[in-house]
Amino acid sequence: MSEEFQPVAQPHLWGNERIYLDEALESGWVSSRGPFIERFERAFAESIGVAHAVSVTNCTNALHLALDALGIGPGDEVIVPDFTMMAPVFAVLYQRATPVPIDADETWNMDPDAVAVAITPRTRAILAVHTYGHPARIDRLREIADEHNLWLVEDAAEAHGGAVLGRAVGTFGDIACFSFYANKLITTGEGGMIITNCEELAKRVRWKGNMCFGSDEESRYTHESIGFNYRMTNLQAAIGLAQLENAAAALESKLSIAQAYDAALGEIPGLTLPPRSTWAKNVFWVYGVLIRDEFGRSRVELQQRLSSRKIETRRFFTPLHRQPVIRSNGSLLSFPNADLLCERGLYLPSFPCMSTSVIQRVADEIRRARG
Ligand SMILES: *Cc1c(COP(=O)(O)O)cnc(C)c1O
Repeated sequence: MSEEFQPVAQPHLWGNERIYLDEALESGWVSSRGPFIERFERAFAESIGVAHAVSVTNCTNALHLALDALGIGPGDEVIVPDFTMMAPVFAVLYQRATPVPIDADETWNMDPDAVAVAITPRTRAILAVHTYGHPARIDRLREIADEHNLWLVEDAAEAHGGAVLGRAVGTFGDIACFSFYANKLITTGEGGMIITNCEELAKRVRWKGNMCFGSDEESRYTHESIGFNYRMTNLQAAIGLAQLENAAAALESKLSIAQAYDAALGEIPGLTLPPRSTWAKNVFWVYGVLIRDEFGRSRVELQQRLSSRKIETRRFFTPLHRQPVIRSNGSLLSFPNADLLCERGLYLPSFPCMSTSVIQRVADEIRRARG
C-alpha cells in the first residue's frame, strides 16, 4: 500500500485569488500602489474591529516597524516569551534593545505572573506572542502594561481569529502584527499587517515603513527620520483580499480538524493534547501535542516513524534561552516549561480544507508507533 505524502501545512486557494490577481495585473498596478492595497487594509481592519490597518512585506518586518514606531531603542528592555518563534525576538534585536525572556504557562504562552516580576526601570514594552493558536493571557498583560506604563505589542501571527474573553486577539495591544506567510490562516505568499486604534501610531508606521518620504512634492525627498521599505504590493493585496473573504471558512476548518484530532488521539496514553481554556478561543493554527514518557517513544522517534510513513510533522520551537545567537549574560534563570515544550512537542498536519481521512491515518500511525 503506497500512501500519499502528507504535508504538515499547505495553503488553500478559494478561487477569487486568481480573479483579483488578474484584475490587478490588467490595471498595471503591480507595485505598492493600487486599489487592492486600500481595499485589503480596510477589510482587514473591519474584520478584526480596529480603526487602522497598514499592510507590510511580512510579519517580521511588521514587528520591527512596530517597535521602531514606538521608539524602542538601545538600552531598552522588552519582555518576550522564552518559548517563541524567533521573529519577535529578532525585531527587538534589530532595535538594539534587550529581549527579556519569560517562561511559558499552561497555555504554552508567556506567564503573566512571571512578567510582573521581570519588570525593571528599563522595561519599555511587553511583546506578547499567541503561540500555536491559543491566545496568551493578554487581558492580564494589558493590565500589567497599564500599571507600569509600558507598551503592549501583540504578535498575532499564529492566532488570527482568536479571542480572549470574547474580545479579538490583536485589539488588546497598542499595536498588533499579523503574518500572511503560506502556512498562516490567510496568505499573500509573503506579507503582513499592522493594526492599531491609534491614528498617530498608524500614521507613523505608514511613514516609517515607506521610507519616511516628505508629505508633499516639495518635501518628498527630505527625510526627517530613518525609513524602511516594508511595503506590500497591490498583487499581494489582491490575493489577500480573496483570502480574507474566506478567513471564517478557513478558521472553521481548523477548528473541526482540531476537534477530530482530539477525538482520535484522546485515548492514546502518553500524549498531552493542546490546551483549551474557558476564557480563550484557541484557533488551532497548528495541532501540537506533547509526548510524555508513558508514550514509550521519544518525540524524535515518533517523528522519524511518522516520516517513514510519509506523514510530515514539525518539532516545537527552540526557546530563546537556548539560542546561540543570543549571547548568554550568565543569568541563572531557568525555563523548565519552555524546555519541556521544546523537548516533547511536535505538531501534526493541519490546514484549511485538509481531508478528514488524514486525521484517522495519522492517529492510527501514532497508536502503532507506541513503544
Ligand atoms: C510566522 C510568524 C512570524 C513571522 O512572519 P513572517 O510573515 O514569515 O515574517 C512572526 N511571529 C510568529 C509568531 C509567527 O508564527
